[in-house]
Amino acid sequence: MRYSQMFIPTLKQSPADAEVVSHKLMVRSGMIRQLAAGIYSILPIGVRVLRKVEQIIREEMNRIGGQEVFLPSIQPAELWQESGRWDFYGKELLRLKDRNNREFCYGPTHEEVITDIVRKEIKSYRQLPLIVYQIQTKFRDEVRPRFGIMRGREFMMKDAYSFHTDIASTEETYEKMKQAYSNIFKRCGLDFKMVEADSGSIGGSHSHEFMVLADSGEDAIGFCDACDYASNVEKAAAKTPAPVTPPNALQKLKQVPTPGHKTVAEVAEFLKIPSRKIVKTLVFETEQGLIAGLVRGDRQINPVKLKNLIGCEWLKPAPESLITSQTGLPCGFIGPVGLDMKVYADHEVAQMYDFVTGANASDSHFTGVQTTRDLKIEKFGDLLRVAAGDPCPQCPAGTYKIKRGIEVGHVFILGTKYSEEMKANYLDADGKEKPMVMGCYGIGVGRTAAAAIEQNHDERGIIWPPAIAPFQVLVIPVNYADEATRSASDKTYQTLLDMGIETLLDDRPERLGVKFNDADLGGVPLQIIIGPKNLKEGQVEVKSRKTNASELHDFPAVLEKVPQILEGL
Ligand code: ATP
Ligand code: MG
Repeated sequence: MRYSQMFIPTLKQSPADAEVVSHKLMVRSGMIRQLAAGIYSILPIGVRVLRKVEQIIREEMNRIGGQEVFLPSIQPAELWQESGRWDFYGKELLRLKDRNNREFCYGPTHEEVITDIVRKEIKSYRQLPLIVYQIQTKFRDEVRPRFGIMRGREFMMKDAYSFHTDIASTEETYEKMKQAYSNIFKRCGLDFKMVEADSGSIGGSHSHEFMVLADSGEDAIGFCDACDYASNVEKAAAKTPAPVTPPNALQKLKQVPTPGHKTVAEVAEFLKIPSRKIVKTLVFETEQGLIAGLVRGDRQINPVKLKNLIGCEWLKPAPESLITSQTGLPCGFIGPVGLDMKVYADHEVAQMYDFVTGANASDSHFTGVQTTRDLKIEKFGDLLRVAAGDPCPQCPAGTYKIKRGIEVGHVFILGTKYSEEMKANYLDADGKEKPMVMGCYGIGVGRTAAAAIEQNHDERGIIWPPAIAPFQVLVIPVNYADEATRSASDKTYQTLLDMGIETLLDDRPERLGVKFNDADLGGVPLQIIIGPKNLKEGQVEVKSRKTNASELHDFPAVLEKVPQILEGL
């Protein structure tokens, strides 16, 4: 393409609401423009990049036997009522009515639609397994759309679904998917980690996320510095605590005054004890009412683990006003002794003796608390949010490291949740009807491109990994009005096009500085700079965007070497 004919509206300034570098650079390099909160138009350069990512995804999906479909984005409410998600999905689901007052939603995901097709069309075990995928626009009315197309409300997703006769076949496809995802993100030039993820309320048996390592990531991932264990911190397991021998003489339960001292740090300082001798009581709101979670004072509770331990549908920290109005208890002094709600505790609490908790009375705490003697615990479980330096749950010597990650892909074994709710059954070899076992697998297309920028940029702009760059080569004539320069530039452009290399020719009558700035901002991997001075010596300058290293090469001999140079980038 000729730059003069392309629509590349670059900007010097970043939009005021852009917090992360990929959002800034996508807007500045003319890839995207915002239409409304979380809703973006993708401009020509943006489309070129997203199509590259999509193509890589297609190739890897096809390679494992995935078949591309294209499902409607508008979905009837009845399907969502059948699966039970019409109510469960809440406000993220954009609901609409047609002229006949029938309810629909704009699909945030497509389990219902694909399960509906499969239950109607697939009857026999002979037709399974089936893997289908699509690349399509989703809408989720996110609470906090931000970071440009990384967390949009409308966004492109590749979603795949697989249907099987049994769990073994599902697992086989799941493994292939994991491999395909690794290939995709590797080909996109990303530094990523596959981590264990919470499969939460979907109720599947396992789930992995693909995380691009970046400080701007919204997720925290924990991984071992010695073995290959890696997990989203939401799920990351704590090492089972070693057994503790109880002390010979146990203290008595005693109420002590702690005037105005509410937090663990305040109570520890006031009573001159380490915070690990305190048990924290955290009250949460769930659909089952208020519940309490206990962890050691120097630990953090992990609400996702607590939710899974309880088996509730939702859980969030209870606001003080709610706690006070429902229980009459003074916040800051709540403790598990005699507490009138279900209490769940971390494993570590089971092995604690002579500790301190709130006394459920203003300005006082209990000392000498014993779990077995004084507390009624509904259930014990691993409730810890792991921290850097905590021991690895999987190997003897390793410890946790924590890094930020951007979730670009997610694979799930769904089991029979949807097939049972929606009666997607097949007949097995004995003619018996059974529910299909399912998996689902998503990749955010725009988020993947944004993540690539998070990892590949400098102060001047984007540095595209060649596989997803909008163009491979940018030809920059120093002065396109100069006859010799123009002719060499045109020749370069035409020759590279003929070789099948995606090339952009900056034929604009702009100052060279402007062209260089736009070149660096846009991040095309290879720049060929052509000017009268070098041409007189029969040479042109070839510059890598990534290393900034530039070399003079003989012209036109260098043109044949361009594929090789691109390979080496
Ligand atoms: P998140 O925790 O980031 O909200 P999710 O768990 O809701 O993600 P999935 O339902 O698993 O995401 O969707 C599959 C993929 O779609 C994600 O891995 C991510 O790459 C992408 N994705 C999800 N939500 C968005 C969004 N709001 N904007 C852009 N991409 C998204
Ligand atoms: Mg989400």
